Amino acid sequence: MKDLIMCVCQGTCPSFQKMDPFEVVNHFRRNKKIDFAVIHPQLCATDGDNFWKVLLSKNEDIDKVIVAGCDPVMQKKMFGWVFKELGFNESKFVGVEIRNMSTEEAIKAIENAL
Ligand code: SF4
Repeated sequence: MKDLIMCVCQGTCPSFQKMDPFEVVNHFRRNKKIDFAVIHPQLCATDGDNFWKVLLSKNEDIDKVIVAGCDPVMQKKMFGWVFKELGFNESKFVGVEIRNMSTEEAIKAIENAL
């Protein structure tokens, strides 16, 4: 399974104001390039850790997880420990920077990571 998670800094961060996150995920749902899509308000918060624990508890079914949000290097630092703890192969994770992009630009950036 190929999964797309959009993280939007609670929806209040100015970096996400130029795009419509729902239109971004719906684009990929419509063209069926992913198996499921989620918009999470704050993956780097404690409930984000809980989300990863539930999502990755059966991670053998997951071929690729794309997280569209902040800087991929930051993402790796924030999520790496939970991947390790859950035995999730980090090479299946792809972080995509979409901050300050329009809806169309965010779609393009994610397309390149599929
Ligand atoms: S993971 Fe990145 S995009 Fe998501 S809330 Fe944290 S800083 Fe923002």
